[in-house]
Order: sequence, then structure tokens, then C-alpha cells
Amino acid sequence: MIVAKFGGTAVTPRNLIYVKRIVTEAHGAVVVSAVGKEFKEDRKVTDLLLAYRARPDDGIWRLIADKYRRLAEVNAVDVDVDALLKDAQRRALLHDGQYCASLGEELSAKITAKFLGADYVEAEDVVRFDENGDLLVEETYSNIRAAFDGGKLSVMGGFYGSTVCGRHTFSRGGGDVSGAIVAAALNASLYENWTDVSGVCIADPAKIHNVASVEGIGYSEMRLLSRSGAEVLHPDAIEPCERLGIPIKIGNFYCPDGASTLVSRCPSRCRLLSVAEKAADGVFVTTVLHSYPQWQMTRLISHFLHSQTNELRFFNVGYTVEPDISAEFSDHIVRLTSRVSILDPLYKSLTL
Ligand code: ASP
Repeated sequence: MIVAKFGGTAVTPRNLIYVKRIVTEAHGAVVVSAVGKEFKEDRKVTDLLLAYRARPDDGIWRLIADKYRRLAEVNAVDVDVDALLKDAQRRALLHDGQYCASLGEELSAKITAKFLGADYVEAEDVVRFDENGDLLVEETYSNIRAAFDGGKLSVMGGFYGSTVCGRHTFSRGGGDVSGAIVAAALNASLYENWTDVSGVCIADPAKIHNVASVEGIGYSEMRLLSRSGAEVLHPDAIEPCERLGIPIKIGNFYCPDGASTLVSRCPSRCRLLSVAEKAADGVFVTTVLHSYPQWQMTRLISHFLHSQTNELRFFNVGYTVEPDISAEFSDHIVRLTSRVSILDPLYKSLTL
């Protein structure tokens, strides 16, 4: 049985149809995010809800309502969306910010469930946290097993659950974690995480032409990438699947049969995992994540340095332990500081 999680860009009026195209009889559970951005400068519903909670402005609510109304209308979903929105708006201001933020996922899941002819599972009733906000794993897993037991497809909103005091959310992007715990609780054969990018790319495709994506990657390598800021998968979504050896497929819902990344117990065959560059005040900091033995990476880097012109002689190469990345990864990170951008030549040199 497959569990699929769809990110916010899939849950938009124009893209909901892709969800229907992907979900098959092999799928037992679907987890969805709140409506995401419809264009580059757009705002995610979760951000709009948080803004609304901070300043209850009718204009902001209209933006939220318009997105869900169109989600239902464009996809001809037979649901009383005005009643859903009226009820959500009433509850938005009755509770705290986390409750308000969770309403996006709740609305997405109710509309998607109707659209797919599936059952709706209320995340508040199954995903349980203690008073410190830690997931109550046993209780949550047994609730999930009970809620998804019908043999019929069920849809749940990601990102939130509840404590004894009310709704509680994971950190931002936490819909991935909800999907992973549903997959683990149901002992799924595969956890599919559908986004708008074709898996994990070695470098930012907006900056490097024809960049390769990582086909297969180990759980701990993926953890290294996620903790280092790769936004494609929430770092806490790895452990629940890793414990049971459930592979995670990170795929692009626009082209489900195209390139994707499979996270599993098998380490990456491609030893270069990521090259990312950030610039501030005329200084470029480039971070390489890799799974080479350290001596080999040192050789590759020095080969690159020697091939560069003089203006790059201000390099500072270091093997750093990041404060939030455990020592297990310290041999796999190289950081270079330079006065000019080196992203393109470094990527080319390391992928030769
Ligand atoms: N909607 C939430 C966010 O924007 C959670 C998620 O999408 O996974 O962070």
C-alpha cells in the first residue's frame, strides 16, 4: 500500500487534477498541504492565515476564501464550500495561531477527499502530541491504523494534530512529517512525496543549466541535505520511514514518470550530493555536501583550485561541523569562501 503526500502547489485550483491522475488503487492514504502559491509572488494560505490571526482583516480572509472557492469550482467538487469557509472563519479567531494555521490543511483535505471520492480523516483526532509538543508515537500510530482501516482511500490534512489543550502544528513544511508518520503507522510499501520539482537536484536549477538530480540516496545522506537547508523534504520526515525501511520517493506531480529521487537504505551512487552558494556583502560562501572519503574530496577541491585564475586566490577552504548538524556528517561538508561566484565552475569540475 502506498501513502502519497501532496505539497501546496499541487493543491491549487489549476493543479488538483494532477492529484487525481497520480492516485491509484494502490494508494491507501493521501495527505495534503494547505493551498500553496499559484504564481511566484503569491502568498501561501498558511502565511495568509497567520497574517489574518495577527490582524483580522476581511481583505485577507477574502484572499483565503477565494482560493478555496476556486479550488472547488475549477475542479467541480461537489461540496458546500461557503459553509466550510464560514465555519473555518468562525473558528479562526476563537483559538490560537497554531489552530488558525491548521485550517488551511483542514480545508484542503476536506475538498480533496470529496474530489477523490475518498473518506476524510480529521488530523486533530489522530495525530497526538504531549504538552511539550512532542509526538505521542504509539497513540498516534494506533489512531492512524484505526482511522485508515476501511480499505477505502482516505485523505488527511498534514502539518497538525492536537494536544489535550487544542490543535498543535509541526514546524513549517511539516506536512511531510504527517505523511511519513501515516506511512510508518500503516507500514506502507512506499511513501510518495509529490512536489513541483523533480526530486533532489545537486545544485539550484535556476542557477545551473541542465543540473543533474540525485536518483537514489541513503536516509542519512538525505538527512544531511535536509538539515543543511534543502527544502524539498522536512528533516523530521526521514526517521519514521527509515526505522521501517520504507522508501521515500520525491517526485514532480507535473511529470510523475519523470526524474525523481528515491530515499532508501541504499546510499547514493553519485557521491556529490549538493553544491550551494550564498552571497552576502561581496563574499560568496559555497557549501559542498558529499559522500566521498575526505582525502578524495580534498584532492578534487585542490584540483579545482589549481585550475582557477589568480582572482580566486582568496579562497578559504574548511571542513566544518555545523552547530545544528551532528558530528556524523562533519567529514561530508566542505565550505569555500571566495570573492567571486564559483558555483558554476565548481559544479562542472566536480561533475566531470
Ligand atoms: N502549510 C504548511 C506550511 O506552509 C505545512 C506544509 O505545507 O507542509 O508550512
